[in-house]
Amino acid sequence: MGDPVSAPASAGERGEARRQEGRLFMHASLPRSPDAHLVETEAGGHVFLPDGSRLFDAAERLYQRFATALDGGDVGALLDQLGVRGAPAIDDVPLTAPPVHALSLAIAQKCNLGCTYCYAQQGEFGGAAQNMTRQAAEQAVDLLVNGAAPGARLNLAFLGGEPLANRALLQETTRRARTLADQRGVTLGFSITTNGTLLTEEDAAFFETFGFAVTVSLDGPREVHDRLRPFKSGQGSFDRIMRNVAPLLARQRRMQVTARVTVTPQNLALRATLDQLVDAGFHSVGFSPLLRSPGGDAELARHDLELMLGEMIDCGREFERRTRAGEPYPFANMLNALREIERGTHRPYPCGAGAGYLGVSADGALAACHRFVGDPEGAMGSLQQGIDGDRRATWLRERHVHRQEPCQGCWARYLCGGGCHHEVIARGRPACDYIRGWLHYCLGAYLRLSATAAAPAKMSVGGAPATASRDEAPLG
Ligand code: SF4
Ligand code: SF4
Repeated sequence: MGDPVSAPASAGERGEARRQEGRLFMHASLPRSPDAHLVETEAGGHVFLPDGSRLFDAAERLYQRFATALDGGDVGALLDQLGVRGAPAIDDVPLTAPPVHALSLAIAQKCNLGCTYCYAQQGEFGGAAQNMTRQAAEQAVDLLVNGAAPGARLNLAFLGGEPLANRALLQETTRRARTLADQRGVTLGFSITTNGTLLTEEDAAFFETFGFAVTVSLDGPREVHDRLRPFKSGQGSFDRIMRNVAPLLARQRRMQVTARVTVTPQNLALRATLDQLVDAGFHSVGFSPLLRSPGGDAELARHDLELMLGEMIDCGREFERRTRAGEPYPFANMLNALREIERGTHRPYPCGAGAGYLGVSADGALAACHRFVGDPEGAMGSLQQGIDGDRRATWLRERHVHRQEPCQGCWARYLCGGGCHHEVIARGRPACDYIRGWLHYCLGAYLRLSATAAAPAKMSVGGAPATASRDEAPLG
């Protein structure tokens, strides 16, 4: 599966070839055992053991023994024979009341765009448009900073709606939080997710001063973006955003400016989008599949996910090519996946939601994360009353990957963590084949790049920030 798709004659044929390749990777990555998965590269066979996320080269005979065991034999017995099975790296015990290290503030629950797929329902989360009060913002900062142990590393995120619709409070809260963090001896990072339409030169200076991770939502080339993310008037927003973001791209040193593309059936030509945004100077560019929207608009279906996987692999191959050539290519999904594989990440949850990360609504309600604002499913108490310990304990118990089906039987469970809670609770798990297919490709890419001299250093070329997405599912 290492050969790139050859360039077919027409765009339709090219799309069909990508979809076909996505299907092949989905098939090759189907779970045959929860305890092992096989990967082949040009260099030979490799075995991935989910327990501890360990990746081994396997000589041909050993690879064949695994293949036989996966074809109805006893994988557990083989692991015992090889002496690679000990106490599981992850047990069934849920996290208990971890310290909060990240908060996102819905500082403005209103928006000037009318994106039909918006989880926040045009920024208002199904309620009335409102700004966060100063009191709520102060209480949120107190919860984050005053509750932290000295030396802790914290993150304060501003989201909406469109957070710059409440710029004065955003700036005031940032300054206050920095002062408190300095007094307390904790490290505090800032991030913002913005639609980019209200950005100014002054914002660029402010974000640079405070070292913000700035994520700008952009959904592709102009025509596609304007269809998906118009102003409420129906007018396109692409040109305005690119004009507004230019001073940020020019200034970014401490600040890092990332483009995040929400992938729908209408903007599946990922490589062209990636190249355009990389060329525009974004620090990194990442793709998120749209799996759930309030009215079901623009959600990806099975055949869309097949094409998306083929497109992601195409982008990944370009990343491999550029990395080998020593050129930066800041494709965030790839960089994140390679880092997780390199670290041997094994996690019992997909993200920090409801654990070390909470969302705060404009009126001070606490939620499992920014997407659960206004959703009783993820309610976690309030700034006034404090974190609801019972709800949080129940959440952490029930959301543990060992309690999820079909995750218990999936080789990818400790890299994936069980999928975004918000999507899973609303829509189940329609994207598992996509997730596994992407991971299967990334494991192969990791092995190929590791075999290249100096590859680990080059993997971090472009330095996609963990900050903007630290509490997001890393691999979806
Ligand atoms: S959500 Fe993730 S861990 Fe669960 S079955 Fe799907 S791919 Fe596997
Ligand atoms: S992955 Fe999903 S549940 Fe987790 S923080 Fe992101 S939106 Fe929330």
